[in-house]
Amino acid sequence: MRMLRALRFAPKPGKLWPRGVSTSPCPGLDAEVVIAGGGPTGLITALLLARWGVRSLVAERSTALTQHPQAHLINHRSMEVMRAVPGLTDQIWAGVPPLDQWRSFVYCGSMLGDLLGSVDHFPGQASPHLPLLSPEPVTHLSQHKLVPLLWQAALADPLVQVLAGCSVRSVRPGEGHVEVDIQERAAGTLRTLHGAYVVAADGARGGLRQAAGVELQGSAGLQHLINIHFVSPELGRRLRGREGMLYFVFSPATIAVVVAHNILEGEFVAQIPYFPPLQSAADFTPGACSRLVAAAIGDPAVPVELRTVRPWAMSGLVAATYQPHSRLFLAGDAAHVFPPSGAFGMNTGIQDAHNLAWKLAAVLGREARPSLLHSYSAERRPVALANMQLSVQNFYEALRIPKLMGLDYHTALRLNDTLTSPAVAWLPPGLRRSALEAGLALGQAAAPALGTLRSRDIRAALEGGETLRLQYPKEDLGFVYRSPDAALAPSAADLAEVDLAARPRPRHAPYTPATLVGGRLPHAAVDAVISRGWLAGGAAGPASTVDLPCLVASPTPLLLLLPSGHEALERRAWLAAAERLAPQRVLPVVLHLGPAPAGAAAERTNALELQCDPASGAWATTGGARVLLVRPDGHIGAKWSERVADAARAQGALEQALAAVMHCALT
Ligand SMILES: Cc1cc2nc3c(=O)[nH]c(=O)nc-3n(C[C@H](O)[C@H](O)[C@H](O)COP(=O)(O)OP(=O)(O)OC[C@H]3O[C@@H](n4cnc5c(N)ncnc54)[C@H](O)[C@@H]3O)c2cc1C
Repeated sequence: MRMLRALRFAPKPGKLWPRGVSTSPCPGLDAEVVIAGGGPTGLITALLLARWGVRSLVAERSTALTQHPQAHLINHRSMEVMRAVPGLTDQIWAGVPPLDQWRSFVYCGSMLGDLLGSVDHFPGQASPHLPLLSPEPVTHLSQHKLVPLLWQAALADPLVQVLAGCSVRSVRPGEGHVEVDIQERAAGTLRTLHGAYVVAADGARGGLRQAAGVELQGSAGLQHLINIHFVSPELGRRLRGREGMLYFVFSPATIAVVVAHNILEGEFVAQIPYFPPLQSAADFTPGACSRLVAAAIGDPAVPVELRTVRPWAMSGLVAATYQPHSRLFLAGDAAHVFPPSGAFGMNTGIQDAHNLAWKLAAVLGREARPSLLHSYSAERRPVALANMQLSVQNFYEALRIPKLMGLDYHTALRLNDTLTSPAVAWLPPGLRRSALEAGLALGQAAAPALGTLRSRDIRAALEGGETLRLQYPKEDLGFVYRSPDAALAPSAADLAEVDLAARPRPRHAPYTPATLVGGRLPHAAVDAVISRGWLAGGAAGPASTVDLPCLVASPTPLLLLLPSGHEALERRAWLAAAERLAPQRVLPVVLHLGPAPAGAAAERTNALELQCDPASGAWATTGGARVLLVRPDGHIGAKWSERVADAARAQGALEQALAAVMHCALT
């Protein structure tokens, strides 16, 4: 067990403060933002706040990091978000196993036994990178290995104070601040901290959402599972040639999904469904777990070390609001829980943090009115609802192969319901449980024979892409924020595109990046910096357009992006407008697809001029966007498609957009 260390505000000697940050600790407050929970969501929130110059305090009730693996797939957008923390994605990459270890899902009678088929989710790819879509690929690193990296980064950051072993008990709004009661768990002492805002990132069972009276909407208890964490380097070795990220096991002795967290290290988690109340988590004794794991492996001689056993209930739930009161925000699992099918849980939490952190920074820095914070719930809740629906749909899709083998989950549920109904309540529970287990065993015993009989259908389903997917670029990168209160409405063309995107599409329809208001600024690989403009002397240039918002830490800047193709007159009009209106806050970027025209950089403007890879930046010439205003989270806040060659008109347009995006009046 790794122990966490408690730190006080302690700026490292020689470490530079981000631009615009006062070095005096927030007067009258213990921290500007108090974060309850040091899981992935809470830690990313703290790190992003620090990036924008905001001091935060993370209170985590545990004193040791959990070693039980949960999430393991980090999607494109989460990886992009984590590029804001210097060095973090490199550290993540150092821990990711080679792609061949996790590119496939394997369907089998047992991990070492009969093979029904497997699906390669990176066909034709030697690396997980999709260079036209993102500078970062999806990665496979377990949460219990990611979280220590986040802790390390948080502990090293002078703007983040960490209190381990401290539980947040309650949150009370005060006059212009919020009071947070914290209990030091070892000593039992209570104290009250004062912050400007609180982020409840205390997970699904932390209690702050419940205490704030916020309801969850959706379906609870879709399935009950036992997670058995085990280690077996020998199994890892014997899986050579049959490597996969997930093993769907259909054996007469067990039905399981085994997650290979790291085959090389022999680290696995078997997820095994059970049916309460006739079955219970207490049934999964070490002996029972060993037998189930041996059955899933398919060779009882393989040595296995059992680590931890945890029951959990799979649910699809989203909080009714993410802002219970003006100074309290819910993020991550405190705001939503999904089935793991699709791997959206932790990823959605990381992206909640990304949406919220810059808004808190802008409001605390008086660059935006507090009303900007209302857009957090308005923007993020619909994304969670969409991810929840997709994850639930994925869960049902994943039942397709077992159903072909006669293992119908709904039949098992009906049997359980019948045996727990009042009509048979008079039967002894032991008898009802035996009947349930006999029914389940019957299905499991018949599965291999049915699997052989229907092998052609199973293969067709696997080859036809009708089973659980691993990558979701459209949902991962293509989600679009639509705040109902945004003063700047998206254009009719944008709305048509968004509506089209929302309609059911063929499962494997390719994702085409576009410049939509509310959408993420797509990626274009930067080949060269032509002119440094506002970029500080020693600062490295961006590798991708998605890195642009991270180039300046504070105050939270907006980017005025001018894709190439403008006449000099039009470009000058926009650059002059930005310069006149808000020189520190609107940073112009000129994007050339391919080599810049001769003399382009000689205009001596404040603009950062970049030369981009025309293939990855192809989106910049489509969708009719002449000029884009990009928010600090890399989402497009405004888009102009008409030619504006007059500085006064450009200034008017920019002024209106700034007021809408930042909820501020410009005088
Ligand atoms: C089997 C399984 C597989 C999964 N696979 C994936 C995947 O591949 N990809 C993915 O994106 N997601 C996945 N998930 C979901 C993912 O694990 C969660 O979404 C993620 O842990 C949420 O992070 P969080 O920081 O919001 O909450 P948590 O991880 O729950 O962290 C909350 C933290 O708050 C602390 N805390 C609680 N109460 C208090 C309090 N009162 N005061 C102070 N501290 C408190 C807790 O100790 C904890 O450290 C999976 C989940 C499961 C169960």
